Formats: sequence, structure tokens, C-alpha cells
Amino acid sequence: MGLKSFFYKSILKKKYYRYGSCNRCGACCTKIYVKHKKGIIKNEDEFYKLKKLHPFYASLEIVDKDEQGLVFKCNKFDKEKRICTIHKFRSSICRKYPSEEIFKFNGVMSENCGYYFKPIESFQDILKKLKKDSYKKLL
Ligand code: SF4
Ligand code: SF4
Repeated sequence: MGLKSFFYKSILKKKYYRYGSCNRCGACCTKIYVKHKKGIIKNEDEFYKLKKLHPFYASLEIVDKDEQGLVFKCNKFDKEKRICTIHKFRSSICRKYPSEEIFKFNGVMSENCGYYFKPIESFQDILKKLKKDSYKKLL
């Protein structure tokens, strides 16, 4: 295991490397699912309680609802200029986006997002490890 993969996997507990950069498509500011504790927020009452907990949620407006849950847009996004109007002061949720947490709740990256993820361990590496483990069990 290289130093970089050791740091990501063992210290940061990551499964993916993130590559790319933001192209300001705005999708992550205008089509947002909100995950809190047990899962994605699905109804208005849950959201109104959450709104009181953190200023980030107070900036969100419900725009839709689909099979995953409520869909929000952030009112700090300037649609014309395609920028975040509070960029310097945006919350840590926004600073960390996109993180691999998205995959943990079956979320998907926006089609136009300039970032992408690649697994730290390749399929072949995982297969090799599984074979090694099952060989050890046989001994
Ligand atoms: S605060 Fe800024 S970066 Fe975060 S969702 Fe709103 S517009 Fe996007
Ligand atoms: S979806 Fe990706 S490229 Fe688009 S604004 Fe968000 S981080 Fe940037």
C-alpha cells in the first residue's frame, strides 16, 4: 500500500479518491437532498424542525419531491452569475461537497459536475484480498 492510499484509507477512512474541479454548473445548489440522522428528509415537518438547527437549512427552499425525498434549492445561489453569494462564508457542508458520503445514501453526482471519484482499491485488489482471506481460512 502506497503512502497516499494508506493515508486516505486508514487515517481519513475513505474508499475513493476525488478528482476534478467545480465548473459552476450550480446543480449542487439548486437540486439538493438533505440527509439528517436516519436518512433523507421526506416531509415538510421534519424540514421545518431542522431549519431551526443550522443557518444552512434556513437558506433552503423546497422545490420538489421525488422518490428519494424532498428536493431543495439554496437561495444563496445567484442564477444569473452562477455563483454562491456567500462563498467566503458558506457552511462546511458546502465546502466539503462533493464527498463520498453521497454514495452512502444512494445519492448520485450531478451529470455535469466537474468532479469525479475513483475507488482507492481496484476491483482486482479487492478480489485478490478476498482470495487471500479465504485461503487463510482454509489453513
Ligand atoms: S450556500 Fe452557496 S455553496 Fe452552499 S448550497 Fe447555497 S449557494 Fe450553494
Ligand atoms: S455540481 Fe459539481 S460542478 Fe456543479 S456546482 Fe456543484 S460542485 Fe460545482
